[in-house]
Amino acid sequence: MSQAIADHEVAENVFLFTGTSVNWIILRDGKDLTLIDAGWEGDAPEVERTIRLLGRPEDVHAVLLTHAHSDHTGALELLHETYGVPVWMSPAEVPNATGEHVEQAGTADVVRMMYRPQAIRWAVDMVKVGGLKQITTPSAESFPEEGPLELPGRPVPIATPGHTDGHTSYHLPSVGGVVTGDALVSGHPTLKGLGPRLLPGGFTHDAEQAVQSLRVLRDIDARMFLPGHGPVWYGSLKESVDEALAHVDDRNTGLDG
Ligand SMILES: [Zn+2]
Repeated sequence: MSQAIADHEVAENVFLFTGTSVNWIILRDGKDLTLIDAGWEGDAPEVERTIRLLGRPEDVHAVLLTHAHSDHTGALELLHETYGVPVWMSPAEVPNATGEHVEQAGTADVVRMMYRPQAIRWAVDMVKVGGLKQITTPSAESFPEEGPLELPGRPVPIATPGHTDGHTSYHLPSVGGVVTGDALVSGHPTLKGLGPRLLPGGFTHDAEQAVQSLRVLRDIDARMFLPGHGPVWYGSLKESVDEALAHVDDRNTGLDG
């Protein structure tokens, strides 16, 4: 990645980086940082490198997780073990992270989505970065408090279950943005084109609840969202959610566009 840091600054002191078809977000307040999500295991060196573009891993106050799928948890143990960074998430997501309970697309689900050439390339990349390993995060902890977190960027957890039971989005009121994880994406190798969408049904634990969570996001006054997959998406969250809802019926066939 040779782009200047400025290219990743999607709002003041909010940075979005992309690894192997998956994003992580860094919030900055002076030298202090918050990381949201952590790529695949194979992306861990890149996660650390991007932290060092902005500061020091020791100054990451916490890693927040949107959900405990292995494309988002890759660098967690590295950061926790090496730098003592706490790993926080919804209490409902902790069992998914520690491996007590697993809600992740199985191989058969993924194979069903492999009808696009770009999806096959993605699957090959995914295997290279550790996508078939069952990764657990023993350091996973529940948020230490309710409401806005006392962290750089002041993220506010918003429960958006469906993709997983404890899936959480993070509202960033100071910049009018929401980190939506996999509750609302703007692109993925298994989807055609770019635009606000739910992920294909095979990835989602409870599809009906995922739609309910879109309605929760719709009520947030925001001018952009930062998804787990696809580029930062500008425009009111209400309009973005309406676009995703308009495509919900296509989602299980993957024949949207
Ligand atoms: Zn994901």
